[in-house]
Amino acid sequence: MHTDVVIIGGGLAGCSLAYFLALEGIEVIVIERFELNKLASGANAGSLHCQIPHTEFLENGECWTKRFAPVLKLMKQSITLWGTLEKELKSDLEFSQAGGLLIAETEAQMRDIEHKAEFEREQGIEMEILARDDLLKMVPYVSDKMVGAAYCLDEGKANPHKATPAFAKAAQQHGAKIFHYTTVDAIEAIGNGFNVKTSMGEVSAKRIVNAAGADAGRVARMVGVELDIAGFPIQVNVTERAAPLVKHLLYFAGDRLTLKQAKSGEFLIGGGWPSNMNARTNQLSVNPDSIRNN
Ligand SMILES: Cc1cc2nc3c(=O)[nH]c(=O)nc-3n(C[C@H](O)[C@H](O)[C@H](O)COP(=O)(O)OP(=O)(O)OC[C@H]3O[C@@H](n4cnc5c(N)ncnc54)[C@H](O)[C@@H]3O)c2cc1C
Repeated sequence: MHTDVVIIGGGLAGCSLAYFLALEGIEVIVIERFELNKLASGANAGSLHCQIPHTEFLENGECWTKRFAPVLKLMKQSITLWGTLEKELKSDLEFSQAGGLLIAETEAQMRDIEHKAEFEREQGIEMEILARDDLLKMVPYVSDKMVGAAYCLDEGKANPHKATPAFAKAAQQHGAKIFHYTTVDAIEAIGNGFNVKTSMGEVSAKRIVNAAGADAGRVARMVGVELDIAGFPIQVNVTERAAPLVKHLLYFAGDRLTLKQAKSGEFLIGGGWPSNMNARTNQLSVNPDSIRNN
């Protein structure tokens, strides 16, 4: 079998690229070892971030912040793109863009937030600093012990269960092929392209794209390239459904805590707390300490 482009990985990166290539009339095959959207793309909290992460800002200092900051422009463009996708893919992705609030409990945290906002504004991100009264007017359910917040107008959210399948469906409608339960085991460079050896046979292609997520390092090694990429599992707590209350993304400046409410009513409470992974089987399980601390 031959094609123009083989994409290794059926997550958001692989399926969105398949869509945009197929749209240009390029022949494309996506090869996915499980079902589509099974790993990071389907198991994240669906936040569309556009801020410098606060914990990293505090821990890594100004040098790191200056190196990271230009990425914000890409994030902003990405959220603009998200805003057009529902129409383009003819799919309800539960996209909304109500903005994000980084909330402070102390004056010292407030100063950190204001300092971070200076770097963000330099990159064209709209940041407003809110005093306690303005914060409570905007989100009255927040404790009145909070002293203020930074409001990032660009941030939003979408449903991770819907985005990748919508791209995959649209890609297939434009002629892309998707192979499920097919693992790429080896890649061989041939005259004018590559021979991709999979668990279901061989596919040759002019180009290959490594969209293997946390396994991108392993795939790169198949062509002798070392990529310093690794995955680590984090967990999110999901509550029962409740009436609409929280429309913003909320972050807390005092610890690892994020909160949002899905369109279907569940609250998603996270902040990057680790889950357990069995080192032998890679099987994931809930980490009770992370639930408690979160
Ligand atoms: C709604 C939404 C909001 C998001 N918001 C943000 C955000 O604000 N900021 C941000 O940084 N990120 C965000 N993300 C991105 C997200 O956190 C993940 O980083 C991203 O989805 C990872 O996509 P991926 O396709 O690279 O990897 P994955 O989803 O992990 O997909 C990789 C795929 O490759 C397959 N694979 C690996 N090796 C092989 C092999 N040898 N053969 C065949 N298949 C293989 C795996 O099985 C897997 O399915 C968001 C995603 C969504 C859906």
